[in-house]
Amino acid sequence: MKKTIKDIDWTGKKAVMRCDFNVPLDGDVITDDIRIRAALPSIEYLLDNGAAVVLMSHLGRPKGEPKPEFSLAPVAKRIEELTGRSVNFVPSDVVVDDKVREAAAALKAGEMMLIENVRYRAGETKNDPEFAKELSELGDIFVQDAFGTAHRAHSSTTGIADYIPAVSGFLIEKELKFLGDAVNDPQRPFAAIMGGAKVKDKIPVITNLLDKVDILIVGGGMSYTFFKAQGYSIGTSLLDEEGLELAAGILKKAEEKGVKFMLPVDVVAADEFANDSPHDTYPVDAIPDNRMGLDIGAETIKLFTDTLKTAKTVVWNGPLGVFEMDNFAVGTKAIAECLAEIDATTVIGGGDSAAAVAKFGLGDKMTHISTGGGASLEFLEGRELPGIAIIEDK
Ligand code: ADP
Ligand code: MG
Repeated sequence: MKKTIKDIDWTGKKAVMRCDFNVPLDGDVITDDIRIRAALPSIEYLLDNGAAVVLMSHLGRPKGEPKPEFSLAPVAKRIEELTGRSVNFVPSDVVVDDKVREAAAALKAGEMMLIENVRYRAGETKNDPEFAKELSELGDIFVQDAFGTAHRAHSSTTGIADYIPAVSGFLIEKELKFLGDAVNDPQRPFAAIMGGAKVKDKIPVITNLLDKVDILIVGGGMSYTFFKAQGYSIGTSLLDEEGLELAAGILKKAEEKGVKFMLPVDVVAADEFANDSPHDTYPVDAIPDNRMGLDIGAETIKLFTDTLKTAKTVVWNGPLGVFEMDNFAVGTKAIAECLAEIDATTVIGGGDSAAAVAKFGLGDKMTHISTGGGASLEFLEGRELPGIAIIEDK
């Protein structure tokens, strides 16, 4: 178990807290503040328990230079609006300078400040120890709560913990509990659903999960590479040439492990990659040469949902069709609805899968939706994330 902010007596202490305030901006208007709202419980806990809080985050890719369009100024304003507390935003082109150090030193219990986008400094993404030290000197304890960047070893996510002790905030605690427990201590049967576009990207995840799951369901764009590996013709469907051999290897490994491995039995294929393109449903051994598979068919939906109803834990990564187009969102929606209904722990990892669940309005019906796309994938691969490894154990 990792230490959390609840394991610290914050009286008279200063927290240096890494958040994920990487919000979408239109000019200086924040178009979606969910990441800011998600950080508030940890921030308010700290402020209410005697801590002074120095907040930091990256935003976008300023690539090591001060660029006003990536300033965190709008974030400071939004935190003030949401909490009704004041945020002392102390901008600096070099992120930490004397003005910032003075403001941090002057910060009292129950007060917070925000420093400028850590990626204004080239050292950040190189995990430069000098920059990490500068950040660490702004406080006493490092609070890691940015899961989305926890798979990156940067000065503000990893290096800083070489100088001051590190604990997790509530967001990371939740990710470790749900994503971690689902994978390492699941209630069985444990099913994983893998979809999305590229086999190659997800091979390490599938390989790791094959050691853990009872049922592995593969759908979406990556399933065509498996069909091809099995000798079917797939028309103009997505093919990951480099993934072909890997797919064959996975089919073999699944058999050896005794994992119930399921692929679609029918698909919806269209003339073109467009919502209004003419389309029909075909068995997987009869996909026409001039058509591309863009969704799973009705028989597959029944097969998959019947199987998922038997599961007690489900991890889902990757949509089962081109859910962005309404005509090819049917399969992804049906699976999302199934997960929303079943009596099981349901964990969604992956940016597009989370977007799909949100699109169908089923977000609050899932046990947990991971906030980190790449980070959740690496977690499912069984890798130790550098930004998590540095958090002290209880
Ligand atoms: P996640 O972000 O959840 O990890 P991915 O990024 O791997 O998921 O894949 C998501 C993308 O896969 C979506 O944009 C979706 O449209 C696409 N996709 C799913 N099925 C197909 C398909 N049959 N053909 C082409 N693209 C597909
Ligand atoms: Mg994606």
